[in-house]
Amino acid sequence: MPGFEVFGAEERKHVSDVLESGVLMRYGFDGMRNGHWKAKEFEKAFAEKMQSQYCQLVSSGTSALTCALAAAGIGAGDEVIMPTFTFVASFESIMMLGAVPVLVDIDDTLTLDPKAVEAVITPKTRCVMPVHMCGSMADLNALRAICDKHGLILLEDACQALGGTYNGEPLGSIGDLGCFSFDFVKTITCGEGGGIITNNKIYAERLDQFQDHGHDHVGTDRGAESHPTLGYNFRISELHAAVGLAQLEKLDGILKAQKEHYTILRDSLAAIDGVTFRRVPEGGEENYSFLNFFLPTEALTQKAHKALKEAGVDACFYWYTNNWHYIKGWEHLRNFKSLGRLPEEIQKQMQDLNTTDFSKSDYWMGRTISSLVKICWSEAEVKQRAALIADVVKKVLS
Ligand SMILES: *Cc1c(COP(=O)(O)O)cnc(C)c1O
Repeated sequence: MPGFEVFGAEERKHVSDVLESGVLMRYGFDGMRNGHWKAKEFEKAFAEKMQSQYCQLVSSGTSALTCALAAAGIGAGDEVIMPTFTFVASFESIMMLGAVPVLVDIDDTLTLDPKAVEAVITPKTRCVMPVHMCGSMADLNALRAICDKHGLILLEDACQALGGTYNGEPLGSIGDLGCFSFDFVKTITCGEGGGIITNNKIYAERLDQFQDHGHDHVGTDRGAESHPTLGYNFRISELHAAVGLAQLEKLDGILKAQKEHYTILRDSLAAIDGVTFRRVPEGGEENYSFLNFFLPTEALTQKAHKALKEAGVDACFYWYTNNWHYIKGWEHLRNFKSLGRLPEEIQKQMQDLNTTDFSKSDYWMGRTISSLVKICWSEAEVKQRAALIADVVKKVLS
């Protein structure tokens, strides 16, 4: 998945355009910037690529989620439904706004189980936030139907699924808002960065304002701009946007390489009795950034993960015991370890995460291994890796 693998002359060229003018900020200084508007250019190109009307670049994927929620008018006490398997940014962005994360089980798609979503809807629910983990997507038809029925906002976290599609449409473009991360290990990188896409003009205006202190961006004098709303600073710098612009030009090539490598790995594992794969919802196509497979039991999966490491296979992940991605590792969240006092609404409304039953999620996560799919592997390297993984897994299962 990581676009940093293909960092090169193109990135350096866009960055040096910015360095030559010295205007490292995305706004203003029109006369000094030699006509370079990297952030604006990225937004235009990315919106087009994502078949969406609007794109707003921001400083990270986490701030993309925060801005998207804010743009949708979500605030104190509003409940946002999110999965148990995700990245910590999901609950961070929700809680930042005083809203309340409601965690629910995943299914064999490794993303939100629509039935689990429907079961926790209350009058306070405002938004459903599926997270398209490890390159593949949630059942968006089912979630869209639930959201429409209950008048909820559908916000896609597509940070790990850039380039994947659902019914032929880009992931991220199907919900009311879609978020991406361009941090250093994502499919394309800005170094640090994020983006939000939407077709909703009002959301787009609010995003533009919220991520820059509420500025209305009317006229050419920043100091004279008015503030229709409170905001924050979640701006991206022009330097980071310049890196992203070069990476965006490479996206198609990245996706093509991922698909080829993924297919070799998958074919080799598919031949083994006892190996099954994560379900991709009908009409979906992964971005092939990870190959995710299940083994028959948790014990065998742990054994296989250990054996893979010992055999020298790098970048195979067992998320079940990983501190970033699964609820088991989020002791700080479960026990409210915040620096200051959390908003009353969060303290009162949040489920007790130490006692909530997530055995359905455990069932899938305990049996999941994910192999990262790198872009720069040679065909021989992928084949060797595929053979090695298959060999280790076979031995563990026999
Ligand atoms: C990386 C990631 C984020 C956050 O992105 P940052 O740019 O690192 O803040 C959010 N959600 C998911 C699923 C991610 O993988």
